[in-house]
Amino acid sequence: MKKLFGVLGNPIGHTMSPAMHNDLFSLYNMDAVYLPFQVKEEDLEAAVNGLRVIGAVGFNVTIPHKSRVIPFLDEVDESAMSIGAVNTVVNKDGKLIGYNTDGLGFLKGLKALVPEINGKRILVIGAGGAARAIYFTLAKENPSQIDIANRTVENAARLIADCPYSVSSRALTMEEAERLVGEYDMFIQTTMIGMSPKITEQPLSLQNVSKQSVVCDIIYNPLETSFLREAGERGAMVQNGIDMFVYQGALAFEKWTGIFPDINRMKENVLGQLGGK
Ligand code: NAP
Repeated sequence: MKKLFGVLGNPIGHTMSPAMHNDLFSLYNMDAVYLPFQVKEEDLEAAVNGLRVIGAVGFNVTIPHKSRVIPFLDEVDESAMSIGAVNTVVNKDGKLIGYNTDGLGFLKGLKALVPEINGKRILVIGAGGAARAIYFTLAKENPSQIDIANRTVENAARLIADCPYSVSSRALTMEEAERLVGEYDMFIQTTMIGMSPKITEQPLSLQNVSKQSVVCDIIYNPLETSFLREAGERGAMVQNGIDMFVYQGALAFEKWTGIFPDINRMKENVLGQLGGK
């Protein structure tokens, strides 16, 4: 029987996950399909129960349901529970188990570029759901500092206070962070500033950025944000949001099938969907 996978979100029209996973099913000769499901908040519990009883093997959960889905699952792994968000669900004999592959997906992409996080001074820009998954994951990698700059500085302070892993951190305004740019080895931009169509915006200027630093932006539309362009022009190493997206999908695929899939093929698929090179 064909195996069913999917993604629950609202809106869901622009998701790249179905084409990415369906391509992997054909690569690995699996009789399976991955479908997008647009689900309103009030229908989320029914949708989750529906996928459980019809025997879906697994599914992803995306904006705005990553936190709201938790009460409807049978089990949530420790790391997803501390982050407070689930993006991947495995149906194990009718029992739905939630995971978060966003933070680890980001880390795997980052490590493909910089193998060692130990001792690094990191600035995370933004304090939303993605920043939370990334901060909690990086905090376990023994960096010397992870500061968070955010429009609402209280949200950055709350995120730091919520983290179960101890790491030296300051909550900063964007202006404070901009003055400290020269101090950091890594920058991780997690807000939607610079996302299409507002592509000329950026959260802060990188005027004093070190040429040895690494600058990531988890946005992938556009592939090069204004922030990344400035970083590249100033000689820093850069990474866009494709790596995080592909690795979070690869980790979900592995949880469902036991296969860690071909990352390069996934990247080509996603770039093709974005019309990039
Ligand atoms: P979220 O939970 O809504 O958080 C949004 C963050 O952006 C908050 O820090 C918010 O600051 C800040 N922000 C929003 N609008 C702003 C503005 N006009 N000026 C300054 N700051 C602003 O969103 P999220 O789920 O973390 O997603 C954030 C971004 O990450 C999106 O662009 C999303 O597409 C991308 N993303 C990419 C991947 C990937 O795989 N590459 C995965 C997940 C998310 P306040 O606290 O002040 O509101």
